[in-house]
Amino acid sequence: MEMTKADFHKIRDNIKINTQAFIDGKFCEAEDGAKLETINPATGELITSFTHCGPADVDRAVKAARRVFNDGTWSRASPEYRKEILFKLAELVEQNNHELAVLESIDAGKTISDCLQETGSEAVNYFRWYAELADKTFGKVANTGEDALALIVKEPVGVVGAVVPWNFPFLMTVWKIASALAAGCSIVIKPAEQTPLSAIKLGELISEAGIPEGVVNILPGLGETAGQAIGLHNDIDVVTFTGSTEVGRMFMRYSGDSNLKGVGLELGGKSPFIVLDDADITDNLIEDAAMAAFWNGGQNCSANMRQIIAAPLVDEFLDKMTKRVAQFKLGDPLDPETTIGSMISSDHKNMVLDYINKGSSEGARLITGGDSDRTGSFIEPAIFDGVKNDMTIAREEIFGPVLGVMPVKSVEEALTVANDTVYGLHATVFTRDIDRAISMARRLPCGTVAINGFTEGDIKTPFGGYKQSGSLARENGTEALDQYLQTKTIWIATQPI
Ligand code: NAP
Ligand code: MG
Repeated sequence: MEMTKADFHKIRDNIKINTQAFIDGKFCEAEDGAKLETINPATGELITSFTHCGPADVDRAVKAARRVFNDGTWSRASPEYRKEILFKLAELVEQNNHELAVLESIDAGKTISDCLQETGSEAVNYFRWYAELADKTFGKVANTGEDALALIVKEPVGVVGAVVPWNFPFLMTVWKIASALAAGCSIVIKPAEQTPLSAIKLGELISEAGIPEGVVNILPGLGETAGQAIGLHNDIDVVTFTGSTEVGRMFMRYSGDSNLKGVGLELGGKSPFIVLDDADITDNLIEDAAMAAFWNGGQNCSANMRQIIAAPLVDEFLDKMTKRVAQFKLGDPLDPETTIGSMISSDHKNMVLDYINKGSSEGARLITGGDSDRTGSFIEPAIFDGVKNDMTIAREEIFGPVLGVMPVKSVEEALTVANDTVYGLHATVFTRDIDRAISMARRLPCGTVAINGFTEGDIKTPFGGYKQSGSLARENGTEALDQYLQTKTIWIATQPI
């Protein structure tokens, strides 16, 4: 039976929220007893205070992670064992889907429908997919002469530090943990300060699944405290970071200032959605354009916020988009009918509103949305027309529901505008001409190019950014494992007999 708003409210009212750090297999407070608070941004109400970990706690967690990595109970265990336990974890996540989704929704203001999809189906699939890879990842044998046997083997890199953002709190946590665990690593992870609750709940399930103590450590805290301590720790081998380009730069510096740890970065974007003049403005195209911009309230790294449209199609496009956008339903994120939830915080809402004002003052035309006249941190999806690439709203990642429509006169102009950005995470192209489609895909320096449909791909396909949208690291696919594996050459001199 379909669940209703009342059902989800009931879960919320009865939920027992765990608020502690998970270090060395135990839930605990910070050494100095510090606390932070998390707010439900849709109501502005305090949900709870929670443990605020600092550098001493990070150090404690890294010691535990190193101890268990060295003793080999996970890192050198049979791949079949790791697989079995990850399957068990997947099952537990599935069983706890409703509670996880409600925690995520109240903590982040995200719609319950998206949360159910992310914590239930996607996260569960994630653990299963990487569980399956645990015993299907092999090294190579080099083609030497008969006087040697050269083995190229993959080994877990060691202790992984992970720092994640608030826009997909559970999914980002799972992306990091599932692949690092399949590779045999230990991990110390810090959720975003606004959204610690679903990650802490995962700690309970990790414990129940039987993952050895110390293999996964979950440390809620601030970027400047726990986050920086992870970046600078001399006994963390690799850091994997998802968040803003600005903080990504800091992780590069932290590495240089400490032990030259590997740094994998998944950063921001300002991705184009290109409609060439031969495309038909179908309902599907409009649905994709609307979701590419406004899914998760635009708080999405691969949001397509520069919609570059062939000039003759702009009027029809804007007319249909305005009608589609009017159908979005803002409101109680726990209501399954709601399609856009709250911004992550009132500070963030104000920042997005500043961008909307800047768009108007720099000469773009606001044709719909941009209002914010209700309790909580909601913003009506905004569409600007006549956006030029030198305007602030075309250059900076806003991370809110602010779409800029940019008319262009040719395919070359579309490419020039699309590529005039420091980012390179994602691009969408609509055209009926196969040669144009392939040429565009080749000439867009982006980690993902979607043709005739907006998608980020799925678990099988690597996800990451060119240019300042990321490092060479990729999430998803078999590529995600590469971040957590070292490559070793074993050269054995042999005497042919
Ligand atoms: P953010 O400010 O960069 O924060 C991300 C994480 O970094 C948080 O856990 C944050 O802690 C921590 N952090 C902040 N300052 C730090 C510091 N000085 N040292 C160490 N850690 C620090 O980003 P956000 O606003 O949460 O998230 C939005 C960004 O994430 C956007 O740019 C978006 O494009 C990007 N994103 C990228 C992808 C991708 O896969 N490419 C996916 C999702 C999101 P606090 O919580 O305390 O601030
Ligand atoms: Mg919160």
